[in-house]
Amino acid sequence: MDFKSLIRDVPNFPKDGVVFKDITLLLQNPKALNETANALYNLLDGQKIDKVVGMESRGFIFGPMLAKKLNAGFVPVRKPGKLPSTTISETYNLEYGTDTLEIHIDAIEKGDKVLIHDDVLATGGTAKAACKLIEKLGGEIVQCNFLIELTFLKGNSKISNYSVKSLIKY
Ligand code: 5GP
Repeated sequence: MDFKSLIRDVPNFPKDGVVFKDITLLLQNPKALNETANALYNLLDGQKIDKVVGMESRGFIFGPMLAKKLNAGFVPVRKPGKLPSTTISETYNLEYGTDTLEIHIDAIEKGDKVLIHDDVLATGGTAKAACKLIEKLGGEIVQCNFLIELTFLKGNSKISNYSVKSLIKY
């Protein structure tokens, strides 16, 4: 299936100079939705996963679909103040300023085999912070997988010590 034909470039979103990859056309197409979930699942090559970790907010779309197919649990990593119970956090640098991600301290058990999933790998800051959170809790990262990788931003190099796979590359 030609996934790229269902990904729309939106110039100057969310701010001037950024060309945003909009996945909503792919999501609203039943065949594409199903085939994308299957293709992301196939990136794992049958490896066992205990928890799928998805990053707010578009990691919450295919993350739970992957968890269902893998017979794994789903764990949300969220922006500050959104998770109700006790959390740990990780702060990372953006082009201007910083951002923080949180996870519940009881979301991962020591030795859990973890798949990290997000829709887009851009600069890699988000994925790297998520990896740190998982490792702080004693999880073992089996793979980081993404629907889209913006290779020109070299996010891959920030998480090069893990297995990084993406379905669509620009
Ligand atoms: P990074 O931390 O790798 O620079 O940015 C990745 C995060 O920003 C992901 O959570 C992703 O959802 C979001 N993101 C960055 N650029 C895009 C984009 O062009 N399209 C979409 N859908 N998300 C993006």
